[in-house]
Amino acid sequence: MSRTVIAYVGLGSNLGEPADQVERAFAGLDGIEGARLVAVSPLYRSAPMGPTGQPDYINAVAALETRLEPEALLDALQAIEQRHQRVRTVRWGPRTLDLDLLLYGDETVATERLSVPHPGLPERAFVLYPLTDIAPELRLPGGTPLVQLLRQCPSEGIQRLDRRKHTADPCSNTRK
Ligand code: ATP
Ligand code: MG
Ligand code: MG
Repeated sequence: MSRTVIAYVGLGSNLGEPADQVERAFAGLDGIEGARLVAVSPLYRSAPMGPTGQPDYINAVAALETRLEPEALLDALQAIEQRHQRVRTVRWGPRTLDLDLLLYGDETVATERLSVPHPGLPERAFVLYPLTDIAPELRLPGGTPLVQLLRQCPSEGIQRLDRRKHTADPCSNTRK
C-alpha cells in the first residue's frame, strides 16, 4: 500500500443552509475513496472576502488521512463541490461550497491547477483559527509555526459557533 499523508482542507459556504452544507461536506470528505476523515474543527462565521453584499460565510477545516496524490485529492474535492451544485461565477463570489486544499503533509506543490500550501492560508483568519483548533502544533513546509501566523492575524470578523446549535458561542473560552 502507498504511503499516507495528513492533508488539511478548508471548507466555506455562504448560500443555501451554509452550516448544513459544511456538515454534509464533512461526510463527503470521509466518503472519498483513498481518504479518511480524522478531525473536524468547530464551525466559524466570517464576514465575506471579496464582493460586498454577500451573506456571511460558515467556515471550518477538516483533516484527512489520505493515500491520494495531491491532484487526485483536488479532483475529489472538486467533485464534492459539484455535488453541492456549486456554480462558478465571480472570483470570491457567493458559493454553496468551497473546498480548498490547505496543506498536504509537509509538501509544496506548484502546478497549473494547484498551489499548496494554499496561498491564502497565512493571512486568512477563517482558515488559521479552525486549523489551529485541530492542529495547534502544525508548521508550514518552510517551518513557520501556525501559532505564529495566528498571533499576527486579527480575529475581527470571525466568530466561533456552538457546534450543536450553530449559534454564536460567547462562552467558548470559559466552558469546562
Ligand atoms: P481562493 O483559492 O483564493 O480561496 P476560491 O477558493 O474562490 O479562491 P476557486 O474558484 O475555488 O477559488 O478555485 C479556483 C482554482 O484554484 C481551481 O480551479 C483550482 O485549480 C485552483 N487551486 C489552486 N490551488 C488550490 C488549492 N490549494 N486548493 C483548491 N484549489 C486550488
Ligand atoms: Mg477559497
Ligand atoms: Mg476554492
